[in-house]
Formats: sequence, structure tokens, C-alpha cells
Amino acid sequence: MLNFDQVTVVLVNTSHPGNIGACARAMKNMGVSRLTLVQPADFPSGVAVGRAVSALDILENATVVESLEAAITDCGLVIGASARSRKIPWPMLSPAQLGVKVVRESEINKVALVFGREDSGLNNDELQLCHFHVQIPTDENYPSLNLAAAVMVICYELRKAGLERKGVKETAEDEFWDQEKATVQQVEHFYEHLERVMIAINFHDPDNPRQLMQRMRRLFSRIRIDVMEMNILRGILSNIEFNLRDATDQKK
Ligand code: SAH
Repeated sequence: MLNFDQVTVVLVNTSHPGNIGACARAMKNMGVSRLTLVQPADFPSGVAVGRAVSALDILENATVVESLEAAITDCGLVIGASARSRKIPWPMLSPAQLGVKVVRESEINKVALVFGREDSGLNNDELQLCHFHVQIPTDENYPSLNLAAAVMVICYELRKAGLERKGVKETAEDEFWDQEKATVQQVEHFYEHLERVMIAINFHDPDNPRQLMQRMRRLFSRIRIDVMEMNILRGILSNIEFNLRDATDQKK
């Protein structure tokens, strides 16, 4: 049996409880069981239960949280599903590539698959919390799928890749990487630290930020930094701060 215990489907601000139930059903059909709801409009709900049919256990075990950050804080890989491409291009996966990647990575990292609101999808801040975006290649005349249909397509790709796993050739990185990937929480702390230092050395003006932090986020999302590398960077930033303080003290 396939085991997707490290994979969580995250639904952000879902308005219709029926969609939550239909997502739970799609997930259970595909063997995915962990569901996190970020501020759902109406949950728990009898309508959700009705649409979940035999996937009631997924609703009962669902975690409800206040923010997307809270939902993904311990994850090493976050993928956001979006029907549209955004202003700054972001690393993209096809649904099939997502399947292969998530099956491999979920052996060592916690993975979140994030889905947006029925009316407006995921906003830019939310999309920037993701390492990759996935777009289901729908018809240009009507690209936006129903939420549960999108969850079904993605979970199906995951299952398909899981079933084919034995035939998948490992890449060098997957075979013998020595460190876990940094979690979202660790990387968020790093961004705060980096921003502080960039301000202190007058590289970054928070009153005129341009897109500096977005671009830094995209850079480190692309790299998928590991825990050891993250510690080295944090150490460098701390030493910069220490030396700045030292230099200021000497001037006094
Ligand atoms: N009108 C919204 C779409 C919302 S559909 C928009 O333009 O963004 C609800 C959610 O289903 C989306 O946030 C996304 O997570 C998922 N979804 C719908 N269609 C998709 C597609 N073609 N590719 C990837 N995800 C899709």
C-alpha cells in the first residue's frame, strides 16, 4: 500500500463546505489522508460530511489553522496550485513532475500541497511561500477548475507516480544527499534575519523595497537550501551584525 503520511493537502479560506467534503473524498480515493484547513468559512459542516461520503475520517482528523504559514511551518517542500501565472515567474512543475517529486521527497521531507480560494485562488504572498507552483494545463478559454477537481487531478498524479515508483531511476541528489531540507519556519527566520542585515548595511531601503525580498525568496526557493547550509548563512549574517556593532562601538 502506498503511504502518503508525510503529504498534507492545505485548503486556504475555502468558502463552500461542500468543496471541503468533495476534496476529502478525492483525497481518500487517491490514498492521501492529511488535510489542513486555513480559516475555512464554514467548518465543521453537515454539507461537507454529505459530500465526503466514506471519507468522513479525513474531515474528522482535519487540522484547522489561522494562517498558511502555520499550516506549512514544518514542511520542507511546499507546492501551490494555481490556474494563473503571476507577475514574477516562479519555478513551475507539471502535475506529472509534481507526482514524481512529491513521491521521492516525502520519503525525507514533509510536503504541503496548497490550494486557493474558489473565487480568487492564492494571493501573491501565499504563492511566494511555495517552492514551486503547479498549473494543470486546462483550456485557455476556461482555465479554472473546481477546487475538488483540482485536488483530484493532483492527488491522482501523486498516486500514479507512487505506483510507478519502483521503475523510477533515482537522481544523484535523492540517493545520497546528507542533509534534510530546511523547513519553512527555518527559512522564514532566515528571511527576517537577511532583511534586517540588508537594512543595517544600507543595501535595502524598506521604504523603497522594489521587489528585493520577493527576489530573495525566489532565489532560495529555487535552491531548496538544506539545514547545514542554512546554519552557515545564519552564522554569516550574525557575524556581520556582530562586526557592525563592534565598529559602531569603536567609533564612540
Ligand atoms: N478564480 C481562481 C481559481 C480558483 S479555483 C483564480 O483565478 O485563481 C480554486 C483553486 O483550485 C485554485 O486556487 C487552485 O489552487 C486550484 N486550481 C483550479 N484550477 C487550477 C488549474 N488549472 N491548475 C492548478 N490549480 C488549479
